[in-house]
Amino acid sequence: MKKTISKKLRKQVYDKYGGYCAYCGTELKQRQWQIDHIIAKNRFMADVKSAVPELVPEFLSHLTELDVNHIDNLNPSCRRCNNFKHSFDLEGFRREIGYQLERVNKYSVNYRTAKRFGQVVETPRQVVFFFELCAPIINKGGKIFSYNGKIISFIIDGKEHWIHREEAEKRFNF
Ligand SMILES: [Zn+2]
Repeated sequence: MKKTISKKLRKQVYDKYGGYCAYCGTELKQRQWQIDHIIAKNRFMADVKSAVPELVPEFLSHLTELDVNHIDNLNPSCRRCNNFKHSFDLEGFRREIGYQLERVNKYSVNYRTAKRFGQVVETPRQVVFFFELCAPIINKGGKIFSYNGKIISFIIDGKEHWIHREEAEKRFNF
């Protein structure tokens, strides 16, 4: 596997989930997105060698120690998600996001005030990444067409379909 990421591979990564961030599903503007290594570069060799499921998700279990820039290890990411994920492994990143609600409750007076006056309603739920919602569609040969935070539109065999995010979460057993 090559050490650098070619233009062609970069385009492939961008297109992976229809031009949306693999984690939060934000639309990725050209030049304002980044390539995330799902298993971080600096820990890749050691993590792959360890084959610990917490560090190497099932869908990456086929990678060898030389596959750091394999398309399967690369996700298109918005800057915010990529900066936040930093070198967390996937489950560590998920846990960190899961703590956010607890943190704003603990540290943000603005948030607590808004909540007390019914301006925000909490809907605690499992953290599901956008790419996880897309995976079953892509595995069926589908291509992500658009996503607006609620509706995932996709094309299979030239036909357009759509699914509501919550429905997708239920259907795909998250
Ligand atoms: Zn994002």
